[in-house]
Amino acid sequence: MSAMSFFYFSVCHVCKIESATLKKCSKCKLVHYCSQEHQRQDWQAHKDLCKVITDTSTRFRFTGRSPTAFNRFKIVTGVLWHFELGRDLNVSEHEMWMYPKVCAVCYKGLVNIVCTKCWSVVYCSETHRMLHETQHKEFCSKLKLCLKIHQVMFNEEREWERLSFDFDDSVLELPDNICDVVRMIKFKNDVDYWKKALDLILMTEFFCSAVNVVYALEMCKFVERRIAIKTKLVIHTTTTEISENTSWGVLMEFLSHWIYNLEGVKIYVVSTALHKERRLSFSLNCGACREKRFNSSVMFIKAEYHEVVGTIPCPDLIVMFNPCLPDVGLVEWSETVPKLLAYQNAPIILTSYTMEELQKSVGKFPPPWIKSYVKPQENLYSSLRPVRNSEEGSDPVIYRNNFVSIIAKN
Ligand SMILES: [Zn+2]
Ligand SMILES: [Zn+2]
Ligand SMILES: [Zn+2]
Ligand SMILES: [Zn+2]
Ligand SMILES: [Zn+2]
Repeated sequence: MSAMSFFYFSVCHVCKIESATLKKCSKCKLVHYCSQEHQRQDWQAHKDLCKVITDTSTRFRFTGRSPTAFNRFKIVTGVLWHFELGRDLNVSEHEMWMYPKVCAVCYKGLVNIVCTKCWSVVYCSETHRMLHETQHKEFCSKLKLCLKIHQVMFNEEREWERLSFDFDDSVLELPDNICDVVRMIKFKNDVDYWKKALDLILMTEFFCSAVNVVYALEMCKFVERRIAIKTKLVIHTTTTEISENTSWGVLMEFLSHWIYNLEGVKIYVVSTALHKERRLSFSLNCGACREKRFNSSVMFIKAEYHEVVGTIPCPDLIVMFNPCLPDVGLVEWSETVPKLLAYQNAPIILTSYTMEELQKSVGKFPPPWIKSYVKPQENLYSSLRPVRNSEEGSDPVIYRNNFVSIIAKN
């Protein structure tokens, strides 16, 4: 199955077409298909999880009403599936417990009134659909865009993702919003891909991590007028989010072209949530980077940050993009925070999906020790790609790196 695969109860699991007349898998009643042919085609891939879903759903049923309780139920469901399967779930299988086919109001299953605009919500009754109408109206078109983007990414390759790019030499500072950053990127074939609205959105997502790293480096004056104070850059990150969602090559290429005198980047990803330890090194293919002998690598270290921090080179920047709770449990934080603040000149960039999350993260750093380059605020360099939020009781659509703060030891 494609790496860009995803799950919606309202689209055929094979061809990803939305329809009100899909046939559901008669066993798990969760996965849907447009035709028998597509169901047959998917059976080998689906059958082991199908059995687990069928077995657990008879033993483990949600009977509560509150969003918080349903959130917990969903997480436990995911863990149960994982254990009973004896293997990791892939992305679309994860989305099956994250976005189940239940009424958006009462969380009852076996429901059928689907919103045929966004194909993302379903109701048990006309009464519950009407009850949810005002609230849903605000997000319906954004949810529709979420699905549209998934479908486009599933079906089409984006040529620009593989092309080398460069920047205009007359631009010496990061433009002050992500759209303008994307518009100044020059691809080698001289095509302005961002002129298509959907590509513009996908580009903000694609370049988002790189842009935020440059933003932090400029705010703390590590980089000024595209010249860095050091020719080698060391970055630490303690969240796995960056390792999963970042195309490391893009980040390296971006830094190499933006910062004239930069000769190399070393990134250390330290987290207990990593799958395995490994080292990635990049040889950037474009002529300019080869000429510069630009040297870059990413080390993935499966450990708690405070355990290994003395054994790796000191950072110039610490990156914590959208940390989520499993990465930053309370216990780890109390030991990790003093280590993160141990470097006089290394600022920490923290981003998150919501302001509340960001304030929680920033709050872990005690104020007398820190100064802030950027107070917690909306991020001008957030991704513009809407993504579904599986957490019940909060906004159903969120944006990566939507809020930002940059802090450092005082
Ligand atoms: Zn199909
Ligand atoms: Zn099934
Ligand atoms: Zn209902
Ligand atoms: Zn809708
Ligand atoms: Zn290059």
